[in-house]
Amino acid sequence: MSVDVEEYFQVWAFARSTSRADWAGFPSRIRESLGTALRLFDEAGVKATFFTLGWIAERHPDLIRSIADAGHEIASHGYAHAKITEQSQQQFREDVTRAKAILEDVSGQRVLGYRAPSFSIGTDNLWALDVLHETGHEYSSSIYPVVHDHYGMPSASRFPFRLAPGGILEIPMSTANVFGKNLPCGGGGYFRLMPYNYFRWSIRRLNEVEGQSSIFYLHPWELDPDQPRIKNAPLKSRMRHYVNLDKTEGRLRRLLADFRWDRMDRIFLGDCSG
Ligand SMILES: [Zn+2]
Repeated sequence: MSVDVEEYFQVWAFARSTSRADWAGFPSRIRESLGTALRLFDEAGVKATFFTLGWIAERHPDLIRSIADAGHEIASHGYAHAKITEQSQQQFREDVTRAKAILEDVSGQRVLGYRAPSFSIGTDNLWALDVLHETGHEYSSSIYPVVHDHYGMPSASRFPFRLAPGGILEIPMSTANVFGKNLPCGGGGYFRLMPYNYFRWSIRRLNEVEGQSSIFYLHPWELDPDQPRIKNAPLKSRMRHYVNLDKTEGRLRRLLADFRWDRMDRIFLGDCSG
C-alpha cells in the first residue's frame, strides 16, 4: 500500500495552470487530507509506504515525522515533482539526492524507495534506474506497464525485476493481464472511475492465481472532496482529477478490509529496519 504525498496543485496534469513559482500561493490541504489517510490506515491496522516530495517535507517536517513515528515507511517522490522525461541526467541526480537528504533528515529513517512523478520511467530513460541505485536507493516503483497518454512502458515486466544483476529492484505498478493486454489496477484515478469490484477481482487474481503482491497507490488529495478547484486547467485534466472524489474514502476502507497490506520495504526487501 502506498501514498504519493503531494498537494492537489502539484499534479502534473495541472502543470500549465499551476506553475512551480506559484505553489506557495495555494492554500495547503496536505495536513487534513493526510490525516484522513492515516486515520483509515490506523483503523485497519495497515502500515504503508509514503512516497513524499522533498518540497512537502521541507514545509511540513512535523507531519512527515509523525507518519514515520506511526510506523510507516518514508520513501521519496523526488523534490519538485518534475517528470524525469523533462530532466537531464544531472538534473535528475540533483533532484533525487536533494529529496533523499531532506526526507532522511526530517524522518530519521533511511530512505530506500523512490517513485517517479507520473510514472515517468520508460524505454527512453532507463538510465534513471542506475542513477537511483548510485544515489543509494534500493528500490523504485516507477514503471507502469500499460499504454496511457501520459506515461507507461507496456513492454516492461509486470512483476518486480532488476535490469541487471545487482542493480536496483524495480517494482512496477499493478496490472491485470486480460486477453494479452495489461489493464491498470494500481489505484489513482482508475480507483475512482472503475467499479470497486474490478479492483477486488484483479487484486485477488494477482494474489491467488499469479502469486504476486499488488502495488496500490493513492494521493492525499483524492481523500479531500472539498479541495479548492483549479479553474483554468484543461477540461480533461479537471474531469480526471475531480471524478468521484467523494467516493475514495469508502472504497479505500473496503480495500483495506478486503486484503492484507504492508509497507513496500517489508514486502520486497525483507527489511523492516527502515
Ligand atoms: Zn506525484
